[in-house]
Amino acid sequence: MSQLQRIAIAPSQFQQELILLTSQQLHYLRRVLRLGDGDRFIAMDGMGKWWLAQLAGEQARVLEPLVVETELGVAITLMVALPKGNAFDDIVRFCTELGVTCIAPVLSDRTLLKPSPQKVERWRRIAQEAAEQSERAFIPTVLEPVSFNTALTSSSATHRFICEGRGNYPHLKDMIQGLSVNSEVVIATGPEGGWTQKELECAIAAGFEPVSLGHRILRAVTAPIVALSLLSAICEV
Ligand code: SAM
Repeated sequence: MSQLQRIAIAPSQFQQELILLTSQQLHYLRRVLRLGDGDRFIAMDGMGKWWLAQLAGEQARVLEPLVVETELGVAITLMVALPKGNAFDDIVRFCTELGVTCIAPVLSDRTLLKPSPQKVERWRRIAQEAAEQSERAFIPTVLEPVSFNTALTSSSATHRFICEGRGNYPHLKDMIQGLSVNSEVVIATGPEGGWTQKELECAIAAGFEPVSLGHRILRAVTAPIVALSLLSAICEV
């Protein structure tokens, strides 16, 4: 079963026992994967549910619901100051594989990138593809970019951390031991130039705890992946 191809289906495509496939999905299933009538694949709604489905003409039949248990025990929001170029693509892809729940791109004082609306659509597509590939039950939400200050005040999670490479801060791994199941965690990582002192102070004032990811300075693209790796190692259920 796990070898079957997974594709994300929008709720509006489900019509009782049938899935109305889009031309793009049909092209992918028939031309790229070379599936024919009667062949099976997994339809996922991206919100926790999977079904075994069977291709039939321009539609698919829903055969049975499947049990999927690939999610972490905690909900993780990654707040990332946008890095230069296309580096955010890799952050979205790898952190989706590692189990992130929500990705919040933020514009900080030292952020250089000004993302276009097309970029956000691209990141959402990458999150969907990575969720399909890594057998996630949920497709992470990719939020519209907002200023760092707006992002700081929009979270009510009980566990909030801001990663800072300089200073004598506790290691993230020591701060997340014993997190209870269903906890909500927010973790913020900075841009190439790092956080400004003022940003760090504002985050602390807003309830974020500064944490270290070790004694080496990681690239802006590496830090979120390391943070997610630590969280996924400790919060796997
Ligand atoms: N230019 C900054 C400096 O020299 O301190 C480095 C910024 S680093 C490339 C980008 C971001 O990754 C930082 O803002 C921080 O959030 C995170 N980061 C990198 N290394 C880290 C570490 N060892 N511990 C915690 N966070 C780290």
